[in-house]
Amino acid sequence: MRLDIISIFPEYFAPLDVSLIGKARERGTLDVRVHQLRDWAHDVHRTVDDTPYGGGPGMVMKPEVWGEAIDAVIGDVGGDVGGDVGGAVGGASAEDEGHVTPQTAAPRAGGLPRLIVPTPSGRPFTQELAQELAQEPWLLFACGRYEGIDSRVMEEYSGRLRVDEVSIGDYVLAGGEVAVLVMAEAIGRLLPGVLGNAQSVVDDSFAPGSMENLVEGPVYTKPPVWRGHEVPAVLLSGHHGNVARWRRDEAIRRTVRNRPELAAALDPEKLDKHDRKL
Ligand code: SAM
Repeated sequence: MRLDIISIFPEYFAPLDVSLIGKARERGTLDVRVHQLRDWAHDVHRTVDDTPYGGGPGMVMKPEVWGEAIDAVIGDVGGDVGGDVGGAVGGASAEDEGHVTPQTAAPRAGGLPRLIVPTPSGRPFTQELAQELAQEPWLLFACGRYEGIDSRVMEEYSGRLRVDEVSIGDYVLAGGEVAVLVMAEAIGRLLPGVLGNAQSVVDDSFAPGSMENLVEGPVYTKPPVWRGHEVPAVLLSGHHGNVARWRRDEAIRRTVRNRPELAAALDPEKLDKHDRKL
């Protein structure tokens, strides 16, 4: 999968160098390219924002800069572009480092990316959406700052790309960078070969199938007794059927306790007799 990220803070993405996602990048499963939005601004201050029409506090990100940046990354502009199209993760842009190396826009051969715009007003980011996005060959994330990106940018690209405005939760962050890190990790760990054991994805909270709309129950490792706290006996029994039943019961109990809205939405058709008693 190719994953492009446009942001005014490329340094936010240094964590994509480590752990599972870092390894996926090393192996070539995930090709991450981070671009400095300011490389497509033309004034001496490399301005990317302006005052909002209609008044009010804060600033809004300018459509022209975003348009040029997205065009360059998706390869709508032939020849050389002004941005850091092949940019590295985690560092300043090529220009900041004093060596501007304009590169040819991305080839069209792989089609066009799906454009993901993080915003608190977007559709919720869920495990289901992560699974869906993990099937895409190419994602482009546009990180807003200030009061967000001029709406005409999403309008413009929805004519050419699949555009999703996505929220990672009902709270407001300072910018889209952290939201993109969250999404990149949730999507990246679903790519084939990224997790050591593919079964972990199936057993995860919210996983389609038996865990749909359920959160995972408690987990334990050795020793069997720690500071007087015992591991539930069933987990030491070696009886796979009983262990599976216990795990499902605990998942349901936890969902009822911590996520009553999910529990209320469980499909009665998918609950067995034992589930219904809980
Ligand atoms: N004025 C906007 C609103 O109330 O909807 C909030 C803008 S926020 C300060 C700046 C940027 O942070 C947004 O453009 C978006 O990129 C990002 N952001 C903030 N909260 C987010 C969330 N819950 N999910 C995804 N992105 C978020």
